[in-house]
Amino acid sequence: MYKKVHLRLTILSTGITAAIMIIMSLIYLYISEKNLYQNQYNSFKNDINTISTNLEPQSVITMEWLSRMETQNNYLFFILDNGTPFLYNQLSNTHDISKEKLLQESMDSYREMFSFSDTETSAFSSPYLSRHVQFQFTSKSTNENYFCGVIEIEKSSSLLQVIILSPLHQLKKQIFDQRIRFIAIDGAAIFLLALFSWVFTGKLLKPIIENQKKQIQFVASASHELRTPLAVILSSAECCKNVSAEEQAGFIKNICQEGLRMSTLINDLLTLSGSDNHQFSIQIKPAELDTLLINSYEAFEPLAKEKSITLSLELPENTIPLCPMDGNRISQVVSILLHNAISYTPKSGKIQISLSYKKNFFKFSVKDNGIGIPDQDKKKIFDRFYRAEKSRSTKDHFGLGLSIAYEIIASHHGTISVTDASPSGSVFTVTLPGKHSEKSFL
Ligand code: ADP
Repeated sequence: MYKKVHLRLTILSTGITAAIMIIMSLIYLYISEKNLYQNQYNSFKNDINTISTNLEPQSVITMEWLSRMETQNNYLFFILDNGTPFLYNQLSNTHDISKEKLLQESMDSYREMFSFSDTETSAFSSPYLSRHVQFQFTSKSTNENYFCGVIEIEKSSSLLQVIILSPLHQLKKQIFDQRIRFIAIDGAAIFLLALFSWVFTGKLLKPIIENQKKQIQFVASASHELRTPLAVILSSAECCKNVSAEEQAGFIKNICQEGLRMSTLINDLLTLSGSDNHQFSIQIKPAELDTLLINSYEAFEPLAKEKSITLSLELPENTIPLCPMDGNRISQVVSILLHNAISYTPKSGKIQISLSYKKNFFKFSVKDNGIGIPDQDKKKIFDRFYRAEKSRSTKDHFGLGLSIAYEIIASHHGTISVTDASPSGSVFTVTLPGKHSEKSFL
């Protein structure tokens, strides 16, 4: 499931980005190829212009000049005198049939394009001595593209035609190379994109997956915890049927006790799910933290006495400011800590509650000399349903108390931590910031 979503997200993000990139590349290639073609055509046009101006005053066209022009620009020259090839054979070392054909094809294109018949030698009816045209044509025999320029010069009674061909294979190669470069760059970019998307979406999904795992774990643990008291209630109810009134009273007591356990557990679960849904309402008001601790001390003293545990309270000598807090919620935290301390401290142990105020921070702690918490468990005890050494916990402990305390303190923007007490036991310390504005957090 996770892998499928991960893969789909990767494909989706890579696909969209790659599509945008390919479209942009194609637009760039189109513009760049068009410019390349246009530049080459313009430069060919310029060359035809220059050649035409150079040829006009020359009474004799020198071979040297022509062959220099040919090799310099990679052009092919053909010269016709009154329509018949002139100097043609001398220009090429061997009698080249393909060149002859090329000349024929270029002249055919020239005639077609400027629409004049075979018997007419020129398409121009210009009054000037020299004129020229240029166009593009494709050789039918070689299927190669050429820029073709035709220059016509009237000398005495003859018409001199110079046909200049510039093969476009170089330009084609340039365009082809550019396309290959783009395909390679785009391919590499898409590969990197896919890699990045895979890592990125993986990181994005990790907290969601972890959260989902926690939720599944939470529901499983909650169901497990609810099943035990429910089983006791059902079996006790069953046993009530055919027994004496005295025995029935015992079973009913069991049912009530387990019902109470279930109710406590359900309340805890509701508190935690409320905090998960951000429906954990706290009403922050300035209140006396020392008075709250005195009340908790008084409430837990009888329970501590029952276990022969000495419970003491240490308050600051000077008056401390009012603490911005939700009194009921903080009282709940103190109860959780004291309940745990009494549960995990053996008979004749000592529990001390202390309060201090420094630099706008309130700090209270619950210290016991009980069984203590192993280092590897210190972080985990704030997790839901976590109980260090489950066997030593009593029936009333579901492993939810500290996670509730953590949520309450976090909603007050405070901190809760645990350290070892000396020589044995644990100290739970809570810090709450002072000077809060009076508002309710939801
Ligand atoms: P529980 O309801 O099981 O006490 P808590 O979330 O309150 O759940 O505590 C989680 C675990 O932390 C307990 O199961 C216990 O192992 C450990 N613990 C909490 N307080 C103390 C303490 N004062 N001394 C030793 N262990 C403690």
